[in-house]
Amino acid sequence: MQEVKKPKKPLIYYYVIVLLVLLLFNFLAMPWLMQRQVQQVDYGTFLEMAEKQELGQVEVQQQENQIVFTNKDNTQIYKTGMMPDPDLTQRLADSGATFSGEIIEQMSPLLSFLLTWVLPIAIFIGIGQYMSKKLMQRAGGANSMAFGMGKSNAKVYVKSSEGIKFSDVAGEDEAKENLAEIVDYLHNPGKYKEVGASMPKGILLVGPPGTGKTMLAKAVAGEANVPFFSMSGSEFVEMFVGMGAAKVRDLFKQAKEKAPCIVFIDEIDAIGKKREGQLGGNDEREQTLNQLLTEMDGFEENSGVILLAATNRPESLDPALTRPGRFDCRVPVELPDLKGREEILKVHARKIKVSPEVDFSKIARMASGASGAELANIINEAALRAVRGGRKAVTQADLEESIEVVIAGYQKKNAILTDQEKKIVAYHEIGHALVAALQSHSAPVQKITIVPRTSGALGYTMQVEEGEHYLMSKEEIENKVATLTGGRAAEEVVFGSVTTGASNDIEQATKLSRAMITRYGMSEEFDMVAMETVSNQYLGGDASLACSAQTQALIDKQVVALVKREHEKARKLLTDHRQKLDELAKYLYEKETITGEEFMSILNA
Ligand code: ADP
Repeated sequence: MQEVKKPKKPLIYYYVIVLLVLLLFNFLAMPWLMQRQVQQVDYGTFLEMAEKQELGQVEVQQQENQIVFTNKDNTQIYKTGMMPDPDLTQRLADSGATFSGEIIEQMSPLLSFLLTWVLPIAIFIGIGQYMSKKLMQRAGGANSMAFGMGKSNAKVYVKSSEGIKFSDVAGEDEAKENLAEIVDYLHNPGKYKEVGASMPKGILLVGPPGTGKTMLAKAVAGEANVPFFSMSGSEFVEMFVGMGAAKVRDLFKQAKEKAPCIVFIDEIDAIGKKREGQLGGNDEREQTLNQLLTEMDGFEENSGVILLAATNRPESLDPALTRPGRFDCRVPVELPDLKGREEILKVHARKIKVSPEVDFSKIARMASGASGAELANIINEAALRAVRGGRKAVTQADLEESIEVVIAGYQKKNAILTDQEKKIVAYHEIGHALVAALQSHSAPVQKITIVPRTSGALGYTMQVEEGEHYLMSKEEIENKVATLTGGRAAEEVVFGSVTTGASNDIEQATKLSRAMITRYGMSEEFDMVAMETVSNQYLGGDASLACSAQTQALIDKQVVALVKREHEKARKLLTDHRQKLDELAKYLYEKETITGEEFMSILNA
């Protein structure tokens, strides 16, 4: 869709222009105008005219070393350079010229008057008129809109045939289905009016960042072929109280003029947060929210204005905003599943050249948990890699490497590990892989590498599930915890000491174990009691404990016990398979990167 930019220029802009024009005029045009009338002649001509008594006024400009003079009837001005001429005064006296020393008017008096008086006054009157007109207009619209504040500044997209369509948004079939009805309504409102059905006024798209919420909103406008107003919630909030509310008014005024149309407010939580008690309130935000609520009540159903909003934090929205009659329709836009990821990859791969052997389903499996934006990024990264490698099309290897770049960062070119460090990292990674492979409910190992990455990882083991997984059993989670502890366990078994390399593993293992006990009801003592509630599920999922201090202490004990148990299990597995551990670690140490097949063939040899 094409964005239409309105020529909005602040008044200061006009001031500067006028000032520049005046300056230019004074510096360039005036001297030129004056110059034009003066005719440069040689000293001989001056002498000749003096002799023939044809001089009118004469002015000797000692400093400029020149003589300016006119003819008898003052119609032409002449200028000549001075010569050492002792008889000059006598000559002038004889010629009958007036030489008073007064400056000769080098311009016609009328022109001079026009330029120095009438023109500037006219310009200033013009500016005054223009400004008062502008201010009057604004005062009519909203009371506090001086100098461009209080205008909505919404980006307006007009209908265009090559806008984003539903087909550009891959996956998200449920969301598209929900929104298709809106499109149908915008195409054919009569059908709905006839039955008396009314569309929801506001639709809230909720989901994690980068899942295509903005894209879906644009696609609705593209499919319906109506104008699309886009604005971010944070753009409403200004330094001055009342300004945001004025912007809301302006936005709705514009939208009503253009109806049927779609108004999209991104990150609506910036203005729509719950209003809280008196203390520490944010007046500006609350006024803006109140105005939004009023406007939403103000426009009738079926007026043709559809409001779409997106947020990652639906739980923080004010209940007044989500009640029926306002944003009552909620469309979840979740992270894509395996099929969705494959489709998104394919949609984005249309824009680049891909060699035919590429297996998108494998890439989609490798990129589990990635959002649409990340997948788009992976494709672009792969294309860049292909160009860097001088290839004409993107290969499977490009795509696989770019997943790692997106997950773990670029390979560090000059990170030099000592031999001992490299050995430890090799054992650490093989420890993870071996523990995973020796347990029954673990995802197969896809790749192991000990090339340091810019994210700080010194190596990693990539496990890829065969298909999509929606449920995890208790055993699977336990095995996962064991796998996470496998790296540290290998260090202990082989070197008898531990390093800092396991910090990330420790964090993840703890998080998983804690969730098992507090949220998934997988412990004997607490049974199916929720000890934690997740406060923002789409942004990392911070959890807050909801239990007594004693219970907290008990939970902590259980978490420790669980991790310890799994750690012990991993240590035992590795001790029992010490020979394989050494063999694999040596192989990885030499090759630096090995595939899952290589790993399995050595393990099964
Ligand atoms: P959000 O608003 O949910 O944070 P966006 O709609 O801005 O996410 O998406 C960011 C980018 O990610 C899009 O420009 C697009 O390239 C890509 N993207 C996300 N989801 C999808 C999808 N379902 N299909 C195709 N591309 C997607």
